[in-house]
Amino acid sequence: MKNREYDDFIFNCKRKISDSPLNLSSDIVDDLSHCVFQNPNQIKYKAEEIRQKFIDNIVDNLLVFENKFTENKGIVHWCIAYDDFFEQLVKLLKNKKIKAVNSFESSFNMELGLDPSLKNEGIHTIDKNNTCSIYEPDLGIVNTGSLFSIFKSAYEMELVLSSKLKIFILPINKFICNIKDIELFSHIYSIYRENVDFPFLSAIFNPNDSGEGTESHVFIIDNGRSNILATKNQRKALLCIDCGACKRICPVYNTISDEPYNNVFTGPLANVVLPFLENFESYKHLSFNSVLCGNCSKICPVNIPLTDLMIENRNFFFESKIMDFKDNMFASKLKKFLIDRSKMNKKSWRKGMKIKLIIPSSVRKTRQMPKFADESFNVIRTKQKLD
Ligand code: SF4
Repeated sequence: MKNREYDDFIFNCKRKISDSPLNLSSDIVDDLSHCVFQNPNQIKYKAEEIRQKFIDNIVDNLLVFENKFTENKGIVHWCIAYDDFFEQLVKLLKNKKIKAVNSFESSFNMELGLDPSLKNEGIHTIDKNNTCSIYEPDLGIVNTGSLFSIFKSAYEMELVLSSKLKIFILPINKFICNIKDIELFSHIYSIYRENVDFPFLSAIFNPNDSGEGTESHVFIIDNGRSNILATKNQRKALLCIDCGACKRICPVYNTISDEPYNNVFTGPLANVVLPFLENFESYKHLSFNSVLCGNCSKICPVNIPLTDLMIENRNFFFESKIMDFKDNMFASKLKKFLIDRSKMNKKSWRKGMKIKLIIPSSVRKTRQMPKFADESFNVIRTKQKLD
């Protein structure tokens, strides 16, 4: 980055931080979960299990959803990436001679860059009548072929549900298998995303209930998620229900804000998934963008071990030699010592001299150096048992 660009970048970061003051407490979420659920921790395991059940069998589950949604007189479109989706969408709108739609803001809408692309095609994205709406529901429900949403306002709810042409957009991972679990997730969304104890404006939409002269389409879009699905551990990140709680409680995100991400994905989840959704070269540094305090993993309502996954990413970049040459060299040297207790037991290591040789002074000046235990865990436990 050139000096001028760097100054602008820092200025923008500072402005965004002052616009959104620090809010690092989980008190509201804790209080509400204790009011609504008898055992909030058990509820998290249950929510994790429900989401995992969908992800473990994602292909079959999506096919069942397609069958059910079609039986309900809805139309399903499959899209690999953004351009594929946009081509199908524009074709549909042009066939119906639609010049204006109600496009509702959401993270997936932004990820797809929907509004600017529609404008480029000459389609207006704010329309006050109910001809057509494009909306991201919160969850798809496999066994009933229906969609669950919590609306931001009664006006939004009215516009979406009364539109003659309803277009829903959903990433491949935002589904659950069984409608009986919706009540649990509606509480989770209201507590973790809205910070209230009950979702006032929620609805389950089934195309069958839409009435004569209406049409309902759902676009199920991959947009890079199968790259994450193909990984052994990071696929756990696909359990995310996009509640945003991890972001609000992250001390790093609260310090740097959205600006450095240069992407619609931001916060702890972005640190894990962006290298896989975009590319390693430009996004691998994000997995080091954490102080590993564990706040994000602790608050996540579906138990995604975000901190562990960031460490997993670091390990993956190191093992696959995706890290910078210099960083790789430091990590290799450290690894050589840290996996061998007999080396760490040597005086030079204990007095902190060795680490100074491995880590350059420029890094030591700006960071606190780690302190290693004088004895191994094994020795400490053996002594405790003898006592
Ligand atoms: S990772 Fe967990 S806490 Fe963060 S947005 Fe997703 S579900 Fe919410």
